[in-house]
Amino acid sequence: MPRSYLREARKRVGPKRARIRPVIERLAVEYPDATIALRFTKPLELLVSVMLSAQTTDVNVNRVTPALFAKYARPEDYLAVPAEELERDIFATGFYHQKARSLRGTMQMLIEEFDGEVPQTLDELVRLPGVGRKTANVVSSELGNPSGIVVDTHVRRLSQRLGFTKEEEPEKIERDLIRLVPREDWGRFPHLLIWHGRRVCIARDPRCADCVINDLCPSSRV
Ligand code: SF4
Repeated sequence: MPRSYLREARKRVGPKRARIRPVIERLAVEYPDATIALRFTKPLELLVSVMLSAQTTDVNVNRVTPALFAKYARPEDYLAVPAEELERDIFATGFYHQKARSLRGTMQMLIEEFDGEVPQTLDELVRLPGVGRKTANVVSSELGNPSGIVVDTHVRRLSQRLGFTKEEEPEKIERDLIRLVPREDWGRFPHLLIWHGRRVCIARDPRCADCVINDLCPSSRV
């Protein structure tokens, strides 16, 4: 898109600080059920699901976890079987060797340092082996204690299209979003963008004519 056109488009929609609230409010009306797609019933299952979701789809993880969670209910259960058995049980999520090692390391630390419970804060979560900032952000946010904003491929693309960031790297995008998005919305904001990104603001061919925020978007094609 030519620079002059972008400048004009930004002028037309107004500053991002004035647009962020209406964007969130309209998407919240459009997607009242926007939540995480992974299925879990307790914090340990949430943590395991998010760890398994690296490099694969949530659908794929949800296929594996019912049997997994029936077999491994407590952190100790992940350590009670040989590593190869755990690898077989999570094989379908890919990268099973690395994931099994991270799961076992994490379970060991949960037992030794957290009384077998999943910690709630980002700082504690990132200490767990194989748990990066993105995983920790998702877990702390789902546990009702968001310390940052989850940036995945949809959040990245939509934040750029909406003119909320010019950055490319997830950590820099998150920094821009943290400055912009009201704190009380840190948890739901990524879900709203992810749902909109899957249904309307699609990567290759955004459906701008059907978009409820097209008058607030500098990249709108209508
Ligand atoms: S107007 Fe188009 S580019 Fe902007 S958010 Fe909507 S679908 Fe995406």
